[in-house]
Amino acid sequence: MIPVTRVDLAGNEARYLQECIDTGWISSEGPFVRRFEADMATLTGQKEGIAVANGSVALDLALSILDLRPGDEVIMPDFTIISCASAVVRAGCVPVFVDAESITWNMDTTRIEAAITARTRAIMVVHIYGLPTDMESIRAIADKHGLLVIEDAAEAHGQSFAGTACGGFGDVATFSFYANKHVSCGEGGMVLTSSAVLAERAKRMRNLGFDPARRFFHETLGWNYRMTNLQAAVGCAQLERLPATVERKREIGLLYREQLADLPLQFAPDQWHGSNNHYWVVGAVIDESVDMDAVTLGSMLRERGVDTRPFFWPMSQQPVLASYTSGRNYDHPVAARLARRGLYFPAGTAISDDDVLASCAAIRDCLT
Ligand SMILES: *Cc1c(COP(=O)(O)O)cnc(C)c1O
Repeated sequence: MIPVTRVDLAGNEARYLQECIDTGWISSEGPFVRRFEADMATLTGQKEGIAVANGSVALDLALSILDLRPGDEVIMPDFTIISCASAVVRAGCVPVFVDAESITWNMDTTRIEAAITARTRAIMVVHIYGLPTDMESIRAIADKHGLLVIEDAAEAHGQSFAGTACGGFGDVATFSFYANKHVSCGEGGMVLTSSAVLAERAKRMRNLGFDPARRFFHETLGWNYRMTNLQAAVGCAQLERLPATVERKREIGLLYREQLADLPLQFAPDQWHGSNNHYWVVGAVIDESVDMDAVTLGSMLRERGVDTRPFFWPMSQQPVLASYTSGRNYDHPVAARLARRGLYFPAGTAISDDDVLASCAAIRDCLT
């Protein structure tokens, strides 16, 4: 079976891990954590990074530091991962979903203003699958209506829009370093901000709400969301190789596109508003002209030894969010089409060109 993801760990990962063991620094107190935070702050242009255990708790932490009140509304993409919506819900807020845009698959920024109400406090942006969201439009809308911007850049390490790094736009931004991300710690995440106040809160909430001046005396309840030095060691090594990772991911994405160009599959554009697609995943949407959905194609490919994953299922269609969605009109044709007809193919950084070609041959076999 050709796996959807296999990570290339051939840089300094082993050396840095050995350094953790040799020095005994394995907890969150170790020096790689601070280095990783500083390096991510440099990458994004934010002032501070707060490393955490994974990308989902990074979102929980980000929402917890923003002074949001119960019932406040947060506008966010319908086409995204549950972590985004669960963070909003756990902060006591109401997620309000906006349909995807059919070419880039990112949130359709032209539909945001219609979703704004007197209760709206923030826009959560998620850069989807390798292309950035139009952050000029987001910033203009946020400024006009006095809204906070939360930026989930978990799929956009090293990506940029109009010259600004993804993760650098949000009042608070988050990353994941899960095994399939462009920078990986196995599991890991980070919150980034340029606000000293928000950074201070995030550090405190990450660490059980400890007061830096008076440990074991609590005015806030936090969590243990800390990242270990072992995770950060791998993250530092991965970050050193981010440009090479992006280059390899683009090669893989372009090879798929070239091989599959004549098939009834839609890819997101390779270039958009001056940004190159970074192919966090190499995904495609089966044309409406073909009588086959993503689940069927996925199981046909599995029989041929090729692993795939379906696209996100829209948040507005999640049973667990029914109390937030009932009574609202969530007729979102783009997100619905992406969910039914979209899937992504093997494209980890460690994949060989031969395996990409074998995957392409299997896809061709299924679709012709
Ligand atoms: C991967 C991902 C997350 C979750 O990160 P974990 O580290 O797996 O918890 C959140 N948001 C987006 C957009 C992601 O792609």
